[in-house]
Amino acid sequence: MNDTSGLLVLSGPSGAGKSSLINKIADVIGSYYFSISTTTRPMRKGEVDGVHYYFVTEAAFKKDIEADNFLEYALVHGNYYGTSIKPVKKALKKGKLVIFDIDVQGHDEVKNRMGDLTTSVFITTPSLKELKSRLMNRATDAQAVIDNRIEMAKREVQRISEYDYLIINDNLDEAAKALISIAKAARMKIPSLEINEFVYRWEAK
Ligand code: 5GP
Repeated sequence: MNDTSGLLVLSGPSGAGKSSLINKIADVIGSYYFSISTTTRPMRKGEVDGVHYYFVTEAAFKKDIEADNFLEYALVHGNYYGTSIKPVKKALKKGKLVIFDIDVQGHDEVKNRMGDLTTSVFITTPSLKELKSRLMNRATDAQAVIDNRIEMAKREVQRISEYDYLIINDNLDEAAKALISIAKAARMKIPSLEINEFVYRWEAK
């Protein structure tokens, strides 16, 4: 069977383990493209430009907004983050599953624009306490940044019901198994246009 395309949106608090999960399932979900976002936030230790994000100035980001280069963009924790549309279209044409790690605002926008192709998953820790402890242990951010992320997480979890699936990342292996199933199903999603065509042909037989 050929790989079919689809959009898989992953959201959830920073520290919920989205990146670890993506790395864990990468080898078993068929051909995919992980959407590399553009951001104005400062690079963290260990991050590489063009791998984790495209790090740009606010002026460059605003130019991209004006040129209509983003599928979606949002202001998150005081910094801009956006998804460039071109690579997404290219990957879809090649039959790839496009995976996004974007926030609730970005999900809302992707759903509005490409809802019939989109499957979404909210990934979180079992509790707020656990999230706090993971963010502290990560030790990559200043306390003020951590506090900001916790406040943001509290707001984001209120919007879980906007997502198709919820994964509580208590155990990485179990969470990965769930995400693999969802990723496979995301490729089998039938855009509404194709459903109409299918029903039409089915009735005509
Ligand atoms: P971080 O700074 O920890 O890498 O990401 C902070 C938040 O920004 C996360 O919730 C992440 O999902 C979100 N984010 C990353 N890239 C994008 C993007 O392109 N668009 C939107 N809307 N959110 C993004």
